[in-house]
Amino acid sequence: MYRTQLIKQHQQRLLKIKSFSTTNRNLKFSEIPLAPPDKILGITEAYINDSNPKKINLGVGAYRDNSGKPIIFPSVKKAEEILLKKETEKEYTPIIGSKNFQSIVKNFIFNNSNKDSNGKQLIDDGRIVTSQTISGTGSLRVIADFLNRFYTNKKILVPKPTWANHVAVFNDAGLKPEFYNYYETSVNDLDFNNLKKSLESQPDGSIVLLHACCHNPTGMDLTNEQWDEVLQIIQDKKFFPLVDMAYQGFASGKPYQDIELIRKLTKLANENKIPTFALCQSFAKNMGLYGERTGSISIITPSKEESKAIESQLKKLIRPIYSSPPIHGSKIVEVIFDEQTGLLQEWLSDLDKVVGRLNDVRQKLYDNLDKSNYNWDHLLKQRGMFVYTGLKPEQVKKLRDDYSVYATDDGRFSISGINDNNVEYLANAINEVIQG
Ligand code: PMP
Repeated sequence: MYRTQLIKQHQQRLLKIKSFSTTNRNLKFSEIPLAPPDKILGITEAYINDSNPKKINLGVGAYRDNSGKPIIFPSVKKAEEILLKKETEKEYTPIIGSKNFQSIVKNFIFNNSNKDSNGKQLIDDGRIVTSQTISGTGSLRVIADFLNRFYTNKKILVPKPTWANHVAVFNDAGLKPEFYNYYETSVNDLDFNNLKKSLESQPDGSIVLLHACCHNPTGMDLTNEQWDEVLQIIQDKKFFPLVDMAYQGFASGKPYQDIELIRKLTKLANENKIPTFALCQSFAKNMGLYGERTGSISIITPSKEESKAIESQLKKLIRPIYSSPPIHGSKIVEVIFDEQTGLLQEWLSDLDKVVGRLNDVRQKLYDNLDKSNYNWDHLLKQRGMFVYTGLKPEQVKKLRDDYSVYATDDGRFSISGINDNNVEYLANAINEVIQG
C-alpha cells in the first residue's frame, strides 16, 4: 500500500513538472518558429553535399590560395611561434583590450604615414577612444548599442545594397536602418547622383554608414572627389558618420593607401566641421585572423574631457555582454607590430600577395568571359574580395543547378574561390548561362 502511494506521488510530481514546462506562460517552446538559415552559410552546406568534382564555392568571403585552400599568413604563423615561446599567462585582458593593442590600432589606422598629421593630432589631443572588440561584427554591435544608448536620432542610413548583417546588427541594437541609393544594377555601376539625392532627402542628424573601401557586396568605391561631395552633405545635414573598414588593404594591397576616407574625416574633425565619427575595424581579412575575432571600435570625440566619459561608458556597455575580448588574436597583432620582431614588413608583403592573387584571378575571369553579348567592364572597376556580376537570381540558380557553381542569389562571387584550375570552367559556365 505504502509503495503504491509513493509511486502515485512520484507520478503526480512528474506530471506537475511536465505541465509546468508545457504551460509556462513566459516561454512556449512549441510556438517558437524556425529561423531561416544564414544565406551564405546555407550555400556552403549545399556545396559540401554536392558530389560534382568540378564544384566551386563562391559564397564565403574568406581567402583561399591558388589550390583552393585556406591559409595562415606566414607572418602570423611566426608571431604565433614567438607567442608560444614567450607567453607565460592567459590572464584576462582589460574590458576594452590592452593599452598596447589600442595604441597599435590607433596608429595603424590614424597615423600610418607622413600623410596623417591630422590623425596624429587627434591622437595627441586625446580625441580618439579605442576599444578592442570581437572582430568587425562585434565592433558594429558595440557602436550600435552605444549609439542607441546615447544618440537621440535612431535612424541609420545604409547603402543599398550592403552586407546583410549590417541591417541585422543595427535592428537588433534598436537602431532604425534605412537604405540610401548606392548602386544601379541595370548598368552595373555606382548611382552617384541618386546616392547624393537620397542622402540629401534624409532628416538632419541621422547616422550614416560608409564603407571605407572594397564596398561589400558591389566592390565599387567612391572616388576621392565623390567622397568630398558626400562629406559636404554630411556636414550640411549634421550626420554622424559610422565607417566600416573590414577590408583595409584589399583595394591596393597596402593598408596605408586604403584609408583616404579616414584621412579626409580626421582633417574635418580637426577643423571641427565633422567633430565626431566612429570607425569599426577588423583584422579578419587583412591578417587572416577570421576565427580569432580581432577588431576594434574607435570613437572620435570633440575633446579629451569627453573621451574619458565615452571610454567609461564603453566599458560599462561591454562588461555585461562579454566582459573582455579574446586575447590570442590581439597578441598576434601586438607581436606583428612589435618593431623587435621585424614581422610588420613581412605581414605587409603577405597581404600584398593575397591581394595580388585576387586581382590576378579577377583579370583572368574577365579575360575568359564572352564580351560579345554582355558588358563585363564593371568587373575591372570593382575592388576587394568580391565580383558583383549583375547576374540575375535565376542565372545564379542555373549556375548552381547545372554547373555546381555556388554563389549568393544577388550574383556576388567571392573571388577567393576562383583559381587557375577552375577559372576557365567558371567563365564557360557563366557564358553558357548568359546565352540562356
Ligand atoms: N563589415 C563588412 C562589410 C564585412 O563584409 C564583414 C565580414 N564579412 C564584417 C564587417 C565583419 O567581419 P568580422 O566580424 O569577421 O570581422
